[in-house]
Amino acid sequence: MDGSIYFNRITKGAKDLIKAEQSGKPMPASFDFANSQICAWCKQSIEPPKKPLRCSACKAPIYCSAKCAKRDWKTPAVPNAVTHKVLCTDNKRHMQRLPEVQAVLKSFPWGRLESDGTFSSEIARGRFDVLGGSGYGFWSHRGGPIPHQLHGDGAFQIDNVSHSAQFIQTMLRAFDHLDGSDLLKTRHLTDEEGWKLPRELIPFRDITQDARRPMLMTQFQGGVVDWDSWYRWRNLPKMSPAALLMDFPMSVYQMLVHCLEITHPNAGSEIKPVNLDIYFLGVEVELNFLPLYVYAQSPP
Ligand SMILES: [Zn+2]
Ligand SMILES: [Zn+2]
Repeated sequence: MDGSIYFNRITKGAKDLIKAEQSGKPMPASFDFANSQICAWCKQSIEPPKKPLRCSACKAPIYCSAKCAKRDWKTPAVPNAVTHKVLCTDNKRHMQRLPEVQAVLKSFPWGRLESDGTFSSEIARGRFDVLGGSGYGFWSHRGGPIPHQLHGDGAFQIDNVSHSAQFIQTMLRAFDHLDGSDLLKTRHLTDEEGWKLPRELIPFRDITQDARRPMLMTQFQGGVVDWDSWYRWRNLPKMSPAALLMDFPMSVYQMLVHCLEITHPNAGSEIKPVNLDIYFLGVEVELNFLPLYVYAQSPP
C-alpha cells in the first residue's frame, strides 16, 4: 500500500466517523477500524474475511499467517529491530494493564475503542487533522506503521528485499518532511502555528502571559497525578488531543522526574528557577519535543 493512500484512508475514515457520530444513529460495522489491520511481520494489511492471528503468549502483535508469526519470533521484522522473542515477556506484563489503559482512553471524547479493544491513535489524530506531514506544525511526523524514517544511525537498510523493507520503501516515498526539523530552524513555530488546533484545545508552551500561566504544579490541589489532573491543571477540556499527541514527550518528563530523578517538581520556584539542560541527539529523526518544554521567560 502506498503511503499517501494509507494516510488519505485514515483521514477520510476519521472524517466519516465524526459525521456518523454526529448523526446519532448506531455505528455501522464499516466504522470498525479493527477490521483493517496490519501484520506485525510482513506489514501487509489483513483484510476481512481473513482474521488476524495473535501471539498466544502476550496477545499483543497480530499476524496475517502462522508463517509470519514464526518468522517474527526469530527474525526482526525490519533491520536493526528486535525479534518478538525478546519482546514477548515484557509485552505480556504491559498487556496486563490493558483494562487500565482502555479506561483512560475511554475518558476522552476522542478515545474510541474498536470492537477488538484496540485504539487507533491515527484515527484519533485524523479527527483533529494532526496526522503530520508537510505544513503540519509540530506534528511533521505523519505516523503510519513504520517507526522511523530513512535517516540517522540505525536507519533501515532499504536494500533488504523483505516485504517489510519494500513496504517501508513505498511509505517513505510519501514522506516529504523530517520529524523535528522545525527544531533546527532559526524561527520556532508559535503555539498556534505548531499545534494547528482551536485555541481552547492548545496546551500553550509560552506561559509568559498571566492568563495562560498554570498554577505551580506543587501548589495544585491534589497534585498532578494522571491525565485528568493534568488537564485540570492546564485548564484544558478533555476534547483537547494533548494527551494523544504528547505521550512521547510526557514519557521523557516522567523519565527525568520519576525514573532518573534528575529533577523534581519542587526543585525551583518562580523567583529562583532551576535550569535543566537537555541535549537531544538526532532530534531531526526523533519525535518532536517542542510541545513539552515551557519557558518561564521569553527566550533571548
Ligand atoms: Zn504477515
Ligand atoms: Zn508475544
